Amino acid sequence: MDAHAEIARAIDNYRDKVVALSHEIHEHPELRFQEVFAAGLLTKAATELGLEVERGVGGLETAFRAEFGGKGPTVAILAEYDALPNGHSCGHNLIAGAALSAVAGLKSIASLPGRIVFLGTPAEEGGGGKIILIDKGALRGVDAAMMAHPTDAEFCTMPALATQHLKLTFHGHGAHAALAPWDGSSALAAVIQTFQSVDAMRLHLRDGSRIHGIITDGGQAVNIIPERTECLFLARAKTSKYAREIGARVIRCAEAAAMATGTRVEAVVEGGYKNLINNLSMAHRYAAHSEALGAKSVEAPENTPTGSTDMGDISHVMPAIHPSFAISRHGEGNCHEDAFVAHADSKRGYDAMIRIAKAMAMTAYDLLAEPNLLASAKKEFEARKES
Ligand SMILES: [Zn+2]
Repeated sequence: MDAHAEIARAIDNYRDKVVALSHEIHEHPELRFQEVFAAGLLTKAATELGLEVERGVGGLETAFRAEFGGKGPTVAILAEYDALPNGHSCGHNLIAGAALSAVAGLKSIASLPGRIVFLGTPAEEGGGGKIILIDKGALRGVDAAMMAHPTDAEFCTMPALATQHLKLTFHGHGAHAALAPWDGSSALAAVIQTFQSVDAMRLHLRDGSRIHGIITDGGQAVNIIPERTECLFLARAKTSKYAREIGARVIRCAEAAAMATGTRVEAVVEGGYKNLINNLSMAHRYAAHSEALGAKSVEAPENTPTGSTDMGDISHVMPAIHPSFAISRHGEGNCHEDAFVAHADSKRGYDAMIRIAKAMAMTAYDLLAEPNLLASAKKEFEARKES
């Protein structure tokens, strides 16, 4: 039996176990950095596959790492398993199941021509677990990385945007709102003015950019001129450089609003994710396997609506792919919507998870077995790397 057939056979044999595990994670949604239950199930399953699992990697309680294989290059398969406040509305239980199944498939190969790293990465939803793991060296020695994410489309690439998280706190002067409003300066007026200036700026942003914000503190009492207010903004763009530029422009809007209202603003940049550089050498090989398995997977068209992910940061340090697999039909609910929670625990979702696991495992195997494929992925990575 050739390696691809062996991988497919092993993943099919593993199906019942991994579907049950993925369902259990779905039933116990855990927010970023709190994924104790999910990490526990995944590390237990990896141990049962005969892997030696390191827990608490990079100082993150719910991160884990296992490595196996022979001599040669190293490919990492990444799992996510955090949920959102409305449950597994991003389907990370399927990401975890797909990664674990891919690992089970590759583990079944008797003499693997290289090494596989199974990396459990917490807190994709806002915590940037992968950024911490990169910084702590959890990906040192890895030549290429991959994961796959459920959506409503079948794409071998994902044009994820870079982000900048901003926290703006305005400090005004409180006063009785009827008795002596002239003695006050309104931090609420400043925050409202900031949102208006940001809206006026939108026209002048490059296509594909996004700015969205919420007011997290709008004042303390209706009869006191608000002394303190706070808002959060998320600026997104196709490149990290442009996301930083938009972030700086939002801060200028806030400074202008503070000046106009006689208040003071404290602006904090709370980090962000990098845009995703899709390695096409890897993506095309993945697409070929996906098509052979019955699902045509194409490159996402220019300006496909997209979000952001800390997999973007991985793609800036090594060749990487983050294909999307369809678990719903267009219009039936997409990531982060309540309706997507059910899709993440459906037969269609689990069928896609198993198929995607095979395509990833076969692509990882090819990267280990075909020096030319990895070389071209690396050459492309060097050519497209952003400074
Ligand atoms: Zn997600």
